[in-house]
Amino acid sequence: MVLGKQLMEKFLFKIAKQWIAGNTVDDALISAKDAYKSGRHAIINKLGEYHTSKKQINTAMQEYQKIVNSFRKWKIRGAISVKPTQIGLSISQKECYRNFEKIIQDARDAHVFIWLDMESSEHTDEAIEIYHSFFSKYERIGIALQANLKRTENDLNDLLGIGAKIRLVKGAYREKARISFKTKKDVDDNFVKLMKILFKKGNEFAIASHDIKIIQKAQNLSIKYPRKFEFQFLKGLRDEIKPDLVKKKFVVSDYIPYGVNWLPYSIRRIKERKRNILLLGSSLIQSHRV
Ligand SMILES: Cc1cc2nc3c(=O)[nH]c(=O)nc-3n(C[C@H](O)[C@H](O)[C@H](O)COP(=O)(O)OP(=O)(O)OC[C@H]3O[C@@H](n4cnc5c(N)ncnc54)[C@H](O)[C@@H]3O)c2cc1C
Repeated sequence: MVLGKQLMEKFLFKIAKQWIAGNTVDDALISAKDAYKSGRHAIINKLGEYHTSKKQINTAMQEYQKIVNSFRKWKIRGAISVKPTQIGLSISQKECYRNFEKIIQDARDAHVFIWLDMESSEHTDEAIEIYHSFFSKYERIGIALQANLKRTENDLNDLLGIGAKIRLVKGAYREKARISFKTKKDVDDNFVKLMKILFKKGNEFAIASHDIKIIQKAQNLSIKYPRKFEFQFLKGLRDEIKPDLVKKKFVVSDYIPYGVNWLPYSIRRIKERKRNILLLGSSLIQSHRV
């Protein structure tokens, strides 16, 4: 049973390697440097969520500090992306706020941008509260909002009211039908609706999608509404279109995850696309042949 689990993890890791930089901070910085050489920015995320152990939280904190302080030395244009439950939200709000405050102090000294990842809907209110509390103290913070949630249009309008910096994503978590759009069409339509609001009312936002139709629509909108915005992609996805966007002078960022906690992240990526599930299946079959 244990051996089976280990084998399964080994196969998953083979597939996951395309999306993650490696296990260490240096792996992430090397990947960020590669992005920089191709004209892209980097957003580094240490993998791991729902931490309840102080040791794990402290490790994440130390590593974010190291990353923030390394950008200038490594000559990388970069940001970090943090999940609230990675820095203490699963213990208490107080723990999370105290840690986020520390991250902000380091980021302020190094002039580094911080993105707040959005987790599942049970944490949406808390993430937005964190954003409200800290955006007044440090302006170089952005927050992800998910187009699959029905509440997001209201959240977006409220946040734009304070000048918030938004990363628009479709949403990576399975949510109840009562609160979310369930079909791809409904999620895509809502994404486009929210993206139009961003172009009309926002500035310094991010369109974070691998959906070619959405990326094209964003380019069209940027002609009518010239705004400071960027395209963001997960590392290893849509590499074929990134050079063209850079050539057209759009800002393009790679979201670069690293760390040993690669499994939940990779499962979310695998589920996003049928072909990834097929890839997993074929790699399992091949491994049984050897
Ligand atoms: C920079 C960035 C940050 C993100 N941050 C968050 C966050 O904080 N919270 C959150 O909930 N979600 C986050 N996400 C994930 C996001 O919510 C989606 O789950 C993910 O981006 C897939 O949606 P899509 O917009 O690419 O569209 P989809 O409709 O899922 O995909 C469109 C097309 O892109 C390609 N594609 C998409 N995913 C894959 C894949 N895994 N492998 C291969 N091809 C693929 C396929 O060709 C697919 O047809 C982030 C995504 C990005 C790019």
